[in-house]
Amino acid sequence: MKTQTNTPDSKIIDIDSSILSPYLEGYRPETFNDRLQTFIKQQLATWPELKQAINNLDEQVINKIFLKESEVMLQHNPCRLKSSASKVDKKSIEQRPCFLCPENLYEKQLGLSWNKNWLVLNNPYPIFKDHLVISSKEHILQNVNNALPAMIKFVHDTDFSFSAFYNGPACGASAPDHLHFQACKKNALPIISQTDRIINSGDYSNIQAINEDTSSRSFATTLDNRGIFICLSENSKVLFSIVDQAISFLENMTKNSEEPLINMIISGSESTYMAILFPRKTHRPECFYKDDNEKLLISPGAVDVGGVVILPREKDYRRINKEYLLKIFSEVCFDHSLFQNLIFQK
Ligand SMILES: [Zn+2]
Repeated sequence: MKTQTNTPDSKIIDIDSSILSPYLEGYRPETFNDRLQTFIKQQLATWPELKQAINNLDEQVINKIFLKESEVMLQHNPCRLKSSASKVDKKSIEQRPCFLCPENLYEKQLGLSWNKNWLVLNNPYPIFKDHLVISSKEHILQNVNNALPAMIKFVHDTDFSFSAFYNGPACGASAPDHLHFQACKKNALPIISQTDRIINSGDYSNIQAINEDTSSRSFATTLDNRGIFICLSENSKVLFSIVDQAISFLENMTKNSEEPLINMIISGSESTYMAILFPRKTHRPECFYKDDNEKLLISPGAVDVGGVVILPREKDYRRINKEYLLKIFSEVCFDHSLFQNLIFQK
C-alpha cells in the first residue's frame, strides 16, 4: 500500500454523500452512528487492502494472560511493526509525508467529514474491526486540549457505541505532528469493563475517591501497575471540566514543558460518560532498547495500557509473560499516588 498525492477535496465526503447511498440498506439514515456504519461498509467494499487487513484480524493469534488483578489480551499483529518500531523524533517526523493529511491518504481511502474540523478515517493497520482514526482536517500538532472535547462529542454522536482513545505526542502517537485520536467499538479495550466492574463493586478498599457530587464522581486506582484516574458524569461539560483539571494537575506535577505524558480513553454507556486517564512516566520500556536476544518490541500506547498488548513480532508474542508485562507497566506507568493532592475547582 503506497501513498499517492491527491487533491485534498477529492478525498473528503460528507455524511449525506451519494457515495454512501448504495450501502444504506438496513441502516437508519437519520442517525450519525448508522451513517458511520455505511461509511465503514463502503470503505471495506472498495478498498481491498483494508478488507484484507480486517480479514487478517480473524486469523491473528490472540492469547489472554491474567496478571495480578486483571486480564490482558496479547495480540500478535505483524502489520503494526511499522507503527511500533517507528521513529517519532522530530527530524524523522519532518522527513516523512504525513499519512493523516488528506493529500497523502491511500488511493481508495476516504475521509468522512465530521464536526466541522475533523475527518473520520478507517485505520489501514487495524487492531480491531471498526478501528477508526479521527483526524484534524488541518495539519496541526497533536494536543490533548484540542482532542478531548472532540473525543467526548464523538462518543456522544455514536450513541456510546464507540470508545475514543488518545495517545499523547510523546507516548504512543505515531503522528505527533498531526492532531488525531482513535476509536474502537465500545468494549474492545478490556480496561473499560474492568473499570466499570471496580466502580460498581462497592469495594473501595483499593480505590482513592477524589470527588463525588451530584454531577460527577472521580477516583484513582492502580490496576496491575497502571495508575489510572477515572471520572464518571452524565454531563459532557462537567466531564470535560474535571478531566481538563486532572490534565492540568499532571502538567504541574510532572513539570513537562509540553503536555504531560498521557493516554486517555473516553467511553460510556446509556447516558453516563467515563474518562480513564493514564499518566505515563515514559513511552517505551527498557526491553524495547535492548539488543536482539533481550529485546521485546513493545511500544505501549492507549490500546496496550488499556489491556490489548500488541506484539508485532512472533518471538516476542511467544516470550512475553506475566512478569514481563507487570515490569513493563511499572516502567511506563505511574501508580495512582500521583493523584493524592488533586482537588477540583467547581
Ligand atoms: Zn498531517
